[in-house]
Amino acid sequence: MDFDILDDFENVEMSYVSFLSKGYIARNRNIFEKIKLTPFSKFILKSCTYGTPIFKIGTSGKKLLILSGIHGNELPPQLANLELLNQLVGADLNNTVYFIPFASPKSTMNNERTFNEVDLNRASHIYNSLSNMIIQCIEELKIDFVGDFHSTAYNSNPGFESVFSSKNPTPESVLIAQYISKGVGSEIITYDVAGSQYKGAVEDVCNLRGIPSVTCEVLSPFASVGKGSFEKSFEQMKSFLEYFGF
Ligand SMILES: [Zn+2]
Repeated sequence: MDFDILDDFENVEMSYVSFLSKGYIARNRNIFEKIKLTPFSKFILKSCTYGTPIFKIGTSGKKLLILSGIHGNELPPQLANLELLNQLVGADLNNTVYFIPFASPKSTMNNERTFNEVDLNRASHIYNSLSNMIIQCIEELKIDFVGDFHSTAYNSNPGFESVFSSKNPTPESVLIAQYISKGVGSEIITYDVAGSQYKGAVEDVCNLRGIPSVTCEVLSPFASVGKGSFEKSFEQMKSFLEYFGF
């Protein structure tokens, strides 16, 4: 996987996970109206019209991934990831951080949970599904830790602000979740064995492959940005990074 150095944005490199997932984020007014249109945000939105972009800042230390948009209608984490990217442009980091702000631009454009009727958080174990292509990137890039950021509505699963992790086979997942829970106040949900409840969540597939991962949820109605949800998701992302000594 080759990364291009971006001349206009200091210290940022980028590549693509897939070219099958392209979408025009601006067509989803519920997210587009909330995006600060910095030059970098405009560049990211443009790159989404070609596929799923992945960005990289830093070249040393641990390799971390901040992922959002696995469910295209969960808008707060996608906004938060974009904000985090904007804040870290040009930063001199002691770890290497990869960002996938819009896992499926097409789903975000359509403000829908699925990609071509596939729930990507139930499909990452299926070879060459879009979320499996993200898993392939994670393995190829030898990413050490993954944070997957979602939102959840009342009366859905789990329906409250939370952090998911599992004890086996990758116990550090629980330590990361505990750190985020303590720092941000999100409730902790821990399973004994990754993927025992259902198959194909990005977090579970990573944990099963020995890459410690957590799923973070903030409370927000689907397809819109609930009050305070963007800020909470942003706090969860910062707390994830802080665990590794930012
Ligand atoms: Zn989700």
